[in-house]
Amino acid sequence: MNGKRILKEMTPYKQGKQMHEVKKEFGLERIVKLASNENPFGYSNQIDKYLSAQLPSFDMYPDGYTSELRTAVANKLDVNEDQLIFGSGTDEIVQMVGRAFLYPGVNTVMPAPTFPQYKHNARIEGAGIKEVPTVNGYHDLDGMLNAIDDKTNVVWLCSPNNPTGSLIPKDDFDAFMEKCPERVLVVLDEAYYEYVEKSLQSTISDRFSGYNNLLVLRTFSKAYGLAGLRIGYGIADKALIANLDVVRGPFNTSSMAQKAALIALDDDEFLLDTTSKNSNIKYKFQEFLDSIGWHYYDSQTNFLLVSTPKSGDEIFQHLLENGFIVRSGDGLSCPNTVRITIGNEDDMKQLQDIIYQLHLDISKER
Ligand SMILES: *Cc1c(COP(=O)(O)O)cnc(C)c1O
Repeated sequence: MNGKRILKEMTPYKQGKQMHEVKKEFGLERIVKLASNENPFGYSNQIDKYLSAQLPSFDMYPDGYTSELRTAVANKLDVNEDQLIFGSGTDEIVQMVGRAFLYPGVNTVMPAPTFPQYKHNARIEGAGIKEVPTVNGYHDLDGMLNAIDDKTNVVWLCSPNNPTGSLIPKDDFDAFMEKCPERVLVVLDEAYYEYVEKSLQSTISDRFSGYNNLLVLRTFSKAYGLAGLRIGYGIADKALIANLDVVRGPFNTSSMAQKAALIALDDDEFLLDTTSKNSNIKYKFQEFLDSIGWHYYDSQTNFLLVSTPKSGDEIFQHLLENGFIVRSGDGLSCPNTVRITIGNEDDMKQLQDIIYQLHLDISKER
């Protein structure tokens, strides 16, 4: 068989350890997963109420145009309905961008480290990849502009960036868009938008002041707590959306995901509760890390990238044996770090106790 040659050099996405595997392996009663930036407070209870009363009919194909949710999102963001595209998670929209805009002979520019799916999809499409190292976790936007050449089709910006957590300041973003050639598609991934401090958040209308080459990505997986349902969306000029729509599968988001997202979008109270708890708990965790002298990166998200006195893998393993699954930075091109999702208050207290003990043990060894 003759698939794309690059497939021989690549591996499928390796997911974090599943909770039941870890329980069994270490004989633990309870496991806390702080590895994938999911919402520790669940999701809007309006969704359960609705679904238990009236499930969508599973024998029918979903509405491929996602009409109801499309209208609701368009109203909420004050954009036109033809400026939106929905995907089975924003992961799928990343894939659509690759399929539509990347091919052998062109290249794509991205920060490093960042969300691995940009590179993964670009490699499959055979495009060249130009990675520009972040500086203290922040995008080097001038470096990225310098990396753009006449073969560049797509530039990826991730704000706040995963795994570092840093936000691209509004003025820096505007300056970047001013200087970026208009023929280059700029994808701005805002998966953690809802977690950004209100005073630093940019609205969609701020973003789109005159740019036809910008695609903004948002998701229901993170602050809305619907990672298991797989739904996210992109916002862009209608001509760009029309191009992406050609490569979109006809029924790419499920009826259930559409319905739940529609309800979630309306529950501002849940979102506010999630984001305010997150910022309080994150602040306390940062104070704790300060107290033991562990460095962390600026974060406008629900996770922290923490520098560790031993390799990320060793810290990961130790926490795992104590019932906490985090993400080792060693595999995310951030050696000697772990990425920790901010959990609920009790779990984070327990995690702090474990880290504190670990800190004492490591200090004694030295
Ligand atoms: C989690 C995440 C996504 C993917 O979200 P889905 O909508 O669940 O596919 C995209 N980008 C970044 C930066 C993320 O962290």
